[in-house]
Amino acid sequence: MKYKSCHLIEHGISIDVDTVKACCLSREFNKGQLMVEYKYENGKIDWEHVFFVKKNHRTHQKNKRDLPSCEGCYNLREEDWDDEDYISYINFDHWSQCNSNCIYCGVQRNKPKTKNNVLNAVKELIKLGKFRNNGEITFQGGEPTILSEFENLLKLFLKQGSKVRIHSSGILFSRAIREGLKKGAVSVVISPDSASEEVYKSVKRVDKSREVWRNIKHYRRNLKAEFQNLVKVKYIIIPGVNDNLIEIDEFLNKLKKIDIKSIIVDVEYTYANTNMNNISPHVYMLMDYMENFALKNNMEYDLYDSAKYAKQNRKFEKVTNFDPDDFSREFNKIQWENLKQNINY
Ligand code: SF4
Ligand code: SF4
Repeated sequence: MKYKSCHLIEHGISIDVDTVKACCLSREFNKGQLMVEYKYENGKIDWEHVFFVKKNHRTHQKNKRDLPSCEGCYNLREEDWDDEDYISYINFDHWSQCNSNCIYCGVQRNKPKTKNNVLNAVKELIKLGKFRNNGEITFQGGEPTILSEFENLLKLFLKQGSKVRIHSSGILFSRAIREGLKKGAVSVVISPDSASEEVYKSVKRVDKSREVWRNIKHYRRNLKAEFQNLVKVKYIIIPGVNDNLIEIDEFLNKLKKIDIKSIIVDVEYTYANTNMNNISPHVYMLMDYMENFALKNNMEYDLYDSAKYAKQNRKFEKVTNFDPDDFSREFNKIQWENLKQNINY
């Protein structure tokens, strides 16, 4: 049946520390996240209940009324959705341990330090025949490489033939991730948000820049051409901390040197949420700058959620008459020349 919905309303779950949601998206203007189960305990998920709630969500969408928490979401689209009960997108967000201490970390600010074990619940879903491997599995926060059940979960999904995206601090090297990369089944996203050790430390509040760049290099090494874009390096623009063209130039050149094929850009979400209608032109220019660099160097360029919303709300469209004095932060002449070369207005 054709109606407006999203792949996560239909067949997705995001397993949080103590709740199960449809997705992990937080937006300034939504009315809370779309809950599937308010409380799960001891790693047990009541799948019958999950499918009951998801059916109700689907009915809501079929009746041409957007669920309040989904109103205006960029993921909503009119499509011929099937009407079957199964899960094909799972986001793991169910623990909060991490070996980094990022200044923007929502996980550590908001969540208790728990260590849930959901391996059995996932096995049960598979046993029930309610998992299909036509979606994506994502590991988000905290740090998967220090989660005791991580390797078993990963193996389970690789056995199912799933595609798995792993967000890692990159501080520890994981053989399981490396093996998945070599098979083309895993992609890893590492976000140093910096090139220099100083800026890394001010963003991450740990002194691990060298380890992270060494591990990015190891993950990337000797991958087949068709899998090289599976190592994704992210830069979250944090106004006042790393929104600096010299740092970004250094970051991009580092990527080029180790032949990274995929860049992801985001805007720090607290800044983005509180300034959604007033994002600084400077931030947009840095995004443009990175996009142009990626295009020129045949790299994939992608945006994460806050940057997507910032792009959607962009008032500052094009600048034809650049003047360094227009920028919200001090740009020196060299930065200015670099910027002009990389932005083709
Ligand atoms: S908020 Fe967006 S991504 Fe999340 S379930 Fe709703 S439509 Fe889908
Ligand atoms: S790597 Fe992720 S989970 Fe760890 S501190 Fe940073 S944002 Fe939080």
